[in-house]
Amino acid sequence: METITVDRSEQDDLGIIDEGGLAIDNGRIVEAASSQLLERKYSASRHISTSGEILLPGFIDPHTHLVFHGSREEEFRLRQEGASYLEILGNGGGIMETVNRTRETSQAELLSIAQHRLDTAIESGTTTLEIKSGYGLRLYDELKILRTIRQLQRKNLCRIAATFLGAHAIPPFMNPDEYATIIIEEMLPAVRRWNLADFCDVFCESGVFDPKTSSKILKAAGRMNLRTKIHADQFTNNGGAKVANDVGAVSADHVIHSSISEMERMNETKVTPVVLPASSQSLLSRQYAPARELLSMGLSVALGSDFSPSNWVLGLLTVAAIAARELRMKAEEIIPSITINAARALGMERRIGSLSPGKSADIVVLRAPSHKWIGYTYGEGMVDKVLIAGNERVREGKLVN
Ligand code: ZN
Repeated sequence: METITVDRSEQDDLGIIDEGGLAIDNGRIVEAASSQLLERKYSASRHISTSGEILLPGFIDPHTHLVFHGSREEEFRLRQEGASYLEILGNGGGIMETVNRTRETSQAELLSIAQHRLDTAIESGTTTLEIKSGYGLRLYDELKILRTIRQLQRKNLCRIAATFLGAHAIPPFMNPDEYATIIIEEMLPAVRRWNLADFCDVFCESGVFDPKTSSKILKAAGRMNLRTKIHADQFTNNGGAKVANDVGAVSADHVIHSSISEMERMNETKVTPVVLPASSQSLLSRQYAPARELLSMGLSVALGSDFSPSNWVLGLLTVAAIAARELRMKAEEIIPSITINAARALGMERRIGSLSPGKSADIVVLRAPSHKWIGYTYGEGMVDKVLIAGNERVREGKLVN
């Protein structure tokens, strides 16, 4: 049995301990070591046996759009017939369809829909995730979504980072400048006043927010003590990665068309690139982030699901399989990208992301003979147990209530 600590102080990059186990106390990791040594050293009131399985840090999803109403399977059909994402958006479909549905939905209803999705994520091994607003696009509804996220935080053991993405699209009959002013002067102060978000994000793309406006919004957020993220260069090289580097964002997400020099600059600015290959696949695009180049530059690449109505996937083992196939990422590269590097993309690397002493006992136990099964399979039936802060939340692949 392997215990994959992802603790770099261990012998190899993944910090693998053969026949290893963990000592946990009060929701935190005390020690990762060989089971034999742990049994001699500690007396535990409770043992969880994991023979024939592998232990990893709980998975971390640094990019989701979990809270919205409805689905867009008809739009997927249009894409199968050749329509592009930006064409659909330009014709009033895409995000605006989901915005309209979400605006009509009460907070209580949104909470119940989102809780169901969150349960699926946890059953897939996710113990921390980020959730963005962005399907309100006006003060009342953006706050409603952020308050739904806050309710999820209070109801669930898993950690949730909240991101204000009022700048997800331009509402109809408005120009980007007008809407950016509303975001900066009305929305951000309200988000701040109620302390509803950890991050502010902007969809920087041609036809949505240009680099100048994106930068203005993110700088305003920074002045209000919100950390920043950006949807960068998903469809075109639009300067999103440069904005991320200039404003000192925590992460730059998508980075499919970002320029090489800006990606290299991330080594200095410490911006974490978040690659979202499931999203490219759902958009039926053959264009993916250059993950191999990012890795060869020495960057800490994170992987996320980008769960949204246009990309209905929550399980990071499924995302890992796509990354293995489309980005040629190897198991030993994928594992840090869904644990410690994803924690970095949320600024939480000191608390979670590896099985290191003092960190939260967020653990996933997989039915697999070795870590090399991550990426090799699609992860079906692989999750056995999930522990969050030492509490068993999933057993035999099912949520424990
Ligand atoms: Zn996104």
